[in-house]
Amino acid sequence: MKRLVLAALFFTLTALMANAALAAPAQLTWFGQSAFKVVTPNGKVLVVDPWITNPANPNGKKDLEELQKVDLILLTHGHGDHIGNAVEIAQKTGAKLVATFDLQKAMVAYKGFPAKQASFSETGSFGGQIALLDGEVTVLFVPAIHGGSMDTDKGPVYAGEPGGFLISIKGGPRIYHTGDTDLFSDMSLLKGQVDLMLVCIGDKFTMGPIRAAQAVEMIRPKKAIPMHFGTFPALTGTPEEFKKALRRYGLEFLMQQMKVGETLTWK
Ligand SMILES: [Zn+2]
Repeated sequence: MKRLVLAALFFTLTALMANAALAAPAQLTWFGQSAFKVVTPNGKVLVVDPWITNPANPNGKKDLEELQKVDLILLTHGHGDHIGNAVEIAQKTGAKLVATFDLQKAMVAYKGFPAKQASFSETGSFGGQIALLDGEVTVLFVPAIHGGSMDTDKGPVYAGEPGGFLISIKGGPRIYHTGDTDLFSDMSLLKGQVDLMLVCIGDKFTMGPIRAAQAVEMIRPKKAIPMHFGTFPALTGTPEEFKKALRRYGLEFLMQQMKVGETLTWK
């Protein structure tokens, strides 16, 4: 009898612990530039544009070493500051590449991304939505206005059209990573579908603070997290200017500035 009670207690505790593990909140970490890590409630790990060792990240080497478990690598386009450490991460973790058909092919052909980790089930193109990780995550490929070439030893090659992602996590946030882009009016089609907008504000190669604020006004996310600024002197847009530009719409409360290396927990 005593044994039965103990067994029942054991199973109850195990079930409770499993539930607690399932209920873990999603997390978002910023590494600087456009590099983010997302941990899902089930403990799956996604990285987006993983240039972990960028000049704005003083702990880049250590952060890269600590990425030991990664399930998916999402790349918005083929520029070096977005591919970043993707190949190294893929090699050591076995992570699969989520990117457009053309970018997947270019990553394998020119950058040595492991071919078996760049498969049909993780690719798509704009307008396509794919279910990943047993349906815990869906990714919608959305366009961006930018360039899409990839640098190689022999010069630039075609690497597909640039884009962004709407990443929807079961029990977690819906995250719009804009990639590198200008403002475009079709962004407004995402209105009501975005919790966290990871928005480029650096200017020169992408939207600056004023156009980025216009994009936020169109989409109305729950939070707007500025990215792609301050990594190089040329990226002059600042969160202060972004906030000021948002104030014109009465939306400055939407900005959430993350520090490099900071992790947000989604509750
Ligand atoms: Zn770019």
